[in-house]
Amino acid sequence: MKKHNFYAGPSILPKKVVKETAKALKNFAGTGLSLASISHRSKEFVQVMSETQDLFKELLDIPEGYSVLFLGGGASMQFAMIPYNLMKSKAAYVNTGAWASKALKEAKLFGEVHEIKADDFFHLPKNFDLPKDIDYLHITTNNTIYGTEYKDDFDVNVPVIADMSSDIFSRKVDISKYAMIYGGAQKNLAPSGVTFVIIKNDIIGKVDRQIPSMLNYKTHIDKESMFNTPPVIPIYAAHQTLKWIKANGGVEGMNKKAVKKAEILYNEIDRNPYFVGTVGNESRSLMNICFVMSEEHKDKEKDFLEFATGQGMVGIKGHRSVGGFRASTYNSLPMKSVKALVKTMQKFEEKQG
Ligand SMILES: *Cc1c(COP(=O)(O)O)cnc(C)c1O
Repeated sequence: MKKHNFYAGPSILPKKVVKETAKALKNFAGTGLSLASISHRSKEFVQVMSETQDLFKELLDIPEGYSVLFLGGGASMQFAMIPYNLMKSKAAYVNTGAWASKALKEAKLFGEVHEIKADDFFHLPKNFDLPKDIDYLHITTNNTIYGTEYKDDFDVNVPVIADMSSDIFSRKVDISKYAMIYGGAQKNLAPSGVTFVIIKNDIIGKVDRQIPSMLNYKTHIDKESMFNTPPVIPIYAAHQTLKWIKANGGVEGMNKKAVKKAEILYNEIDRNPYFVGTVGNESRSLMNICFVMSEEHKDKEKDFLEFATGQGMVGIKGHRSVGGFRASTYNSLPMKSVKALVKTMQKFEEKQG
């Protein structure tokens, strides 16, 4: 049976990316050596690194004055590196879910945090006031667990730092409005193990504290992300994904497809009497589509999961903290998988009689 991969992360990658990465693991760039066993300073890998940085700049239209880094430690390491490097005494954090809460927790180790929060995580705070004396504002654009997403750039007078782990390359972003954008690669870009950081060079160097070399953005900017051994295999895969994005209409092409896929799935959730969406229209994510059984069919959650699994749907169980279902519709999820899920929901409805 054909499997449809809706995992939230690590998640689906384009077939071609998996194929090319597997090939390179046997014979990388005609060297006759495995990608897993070549020097990261070999000219072949240095070229992969620099082309990956260039493709980031090209596809996201990154202006002069920014660096693109590929680091280890996941997005979670950035939760600490951000305040360590950039927080003098106070920052504002929009708390929109589990990941945002973790980022906020780390920031509290370094100074005062002004927290902005809606009544629950199914809604996004909008049009809030900011204190004047903050060093930066931290946001999580797409909330992978709750299925909410800020789809517009923030227009504020302070440096904005955004966790875009799960929506990078899915919609156009005006990079000049951000001091830094970062994310784990394993949602929309590559296998886990690499974290991308797009950082405006002039925001660093403003704090007095001593920062260990590995945790200091300056180290990685100065060494063009080659201070220590970078995660070679996921960077190679990211390079392949970026080439795939470019060949498929760039970020605009990804966005068109994402909008279409989300529309088809949300329409079915809204139409089908067995299901209900957990997020209001205005905040619905294009990447993580969350739904539960409707009130009168609450007892059928397990039945649907079993039925859907039997139809080839993989990874649609909601996050353990939310329950219900979550279909992640990242860039490389084909339209036919979304259609297969919709069909499964319709068959389930018919089956109930
Ligand atoms: C998955 C995820 C993270 C955590 O990433 P790690 O690379 O596992 O540390 C952080 N933020 C968001 C929005 C995520 O989706």
